[in-house]
Amino acid sequence: MVSTFLTPYPHTQPNDLASLHLRRDQSLPVILSTQVTSASDQGYAEGVVTNTRFGSFPHSTIIDRLWGSQIRASKVDTGSRGRPGRAKKRKADEALDESSQPSNVAGEAGVKQAEVAESGFIHVLPPTPENWTTSLPHRTQVVYTPDYSYILHRLRARPGSRLIEAGSGSGSFTHAAARAVFSGYPKVALDTADTNGKEGEADVEAPESVKRRTFQAGRDEETGNHGQVFTYEFHRERHEKVKDEMVQHGLDSVVHAMHRNVYNDGFLVYDSNSTTTPSDPKSSPRANAVFLDLPAPWEALPHLTREPALDGRPSVLDPDSTVHICTFSPCIEQAQKTVSALRRYDWIDIEMVEMQHKRVEVRRDYTGLQYDGMRGANAFAADVDEAVSRLRDVEKRLKDFHAGKPADDGSRAGKRRQNNQQQQQQDTASKLPFNEGTLVHRTEPELKTHTSYLVFAILPRAWTEADETAAQEKWSRNV
Ligand code: SAM
Repeated sequence: MVSTFLTPYPHTQPNDLASLHLRRDQSLPVILSTQVTSASDQGYAEGVVTNTRFGSFPHSTIIDRLWGSQIRASKVDTGSRGRPGRAKKRKADEALDESSQPSNVAGEAGVKQAEVAESGFIHVLPPTPENWTTSLPHRTQVVYTPDYSYILHRLRARPGSRLIEAGSGSGSFTHAAARAVFSGYPKVALDTADTNGKEGEADVEAPESVKRRTFQAGRDEETGNHGQVFTYEFHRERHEKVKDEMVQHGLDSVVHAMHRNVYNDGFLVYDSNSTTTPSDPKSSPRANAVFLDLPAPWEALPHLTREPALDGRPSVLDPDSTVHICTFSPCIEQAQKTVSALRRYDWIDIEMVEMQHKRVEVRRDYTGLQYDGMRGANAFAADVDEAVSRLRDVEKRLKDFHAGKPADDGSRAGKRRQNNQQQQQQDTASKLPFNEGTLVHRTEPELKTHTSYLVFAILPRAWTEADETAAQEKWSRNV
């Protein structure tokens, strides 16, 4: 299955997950449906309709549109259910009140919004980890976009990386990680004339539109790995939800979700229902990036080794590459304990970063001081009447000024004076930098993120005498 998260077709298609963008920081994930319900079933004649505060959007108007298109609200045809007029009106009024809560309706009491649609528009966007994070159903505290962008960058997550995540929680970080490590559809015969993709043992057929696009090399150049995310969660329901979401979003070929208490049972890849402990080296995730969003990351660290265990179990980390780790903790004591444990297990370059994101809004503020004569219009007014009359005067002069009219006091001299004054005002206004208002800024407090102490560290790749000899030989051959 091709994921709209990774390589969307150019057009929206039935059963796609789409993100309906309502306004900044507000989007609504919907599965586009061609389901048709008959009006006599109490459904909409148009089939499935998504109702929002900006109007009603039958999915038939969203499907087969270019991603990014603006979709106008439709007047929804409620068919011939023939409710009495007053009831219909009342329902429509109720729908107006409810409409701040978007809903998907097919076959429900269909008069909702019937007469209130056609008012606004939305944009239909392909799902991305960013818009999924702002709209996903929260089952836990989640990692937000500003944090995961930074974390994935510091983990050097890239196509081909093999990344361990614990716990999966609400799957917010999982989506971003899946996109970061995605290394092209494996096993697809790509047209080598315009791609760098590698041909493999195909069982996933990419659509034509995808085949035509230029691909990243199918594997990490350095390690030859296919990108994978291994995500672990000990809460059964959360684990099952994340697993289902990965299938629905077409990410299950990239993300391997496991039900596991990682403090006790570590990170090897095996069926969680099996009682046998794996010793097959293939069951190692061979990870080169690790993200721990757990209450006690230090309890998971003993399992993140490069050396095979004494009982024959393979190591969890890739023995042939440097491994980057990040732990996410809400309080400093947790970060301190993690740092101590990292030192004990030979991690180096340990660093703690406190994230404090702020969004700064910069805009021009109209101060009202722009034009001579307007300054403090009511500053010297003796009473309310005088203040109102001064304001009216200012308003009239402003209107005249914009209309290019000289103020009329009757005399020729007066007109000349007014002309000169007007010219002066225009000159001054065009020269003043605050003509469009003074530049001001303020921080927006509502940016979604939470206090986090991120601890980063590196486990350098093991380097033996044999590695050194091989490197020397390779070097002398190339010289
Ligand atoms: N990073 C996630 C996201 O972006 O949606 C949120 C993770 S949430 C804060 C922490 C999760 O770790 C919880 O769902 C919890 O059940 C899980 N967890 C806690 N201890 C665990 C353990 N020992 N093994 C596996 N999962 C664990």
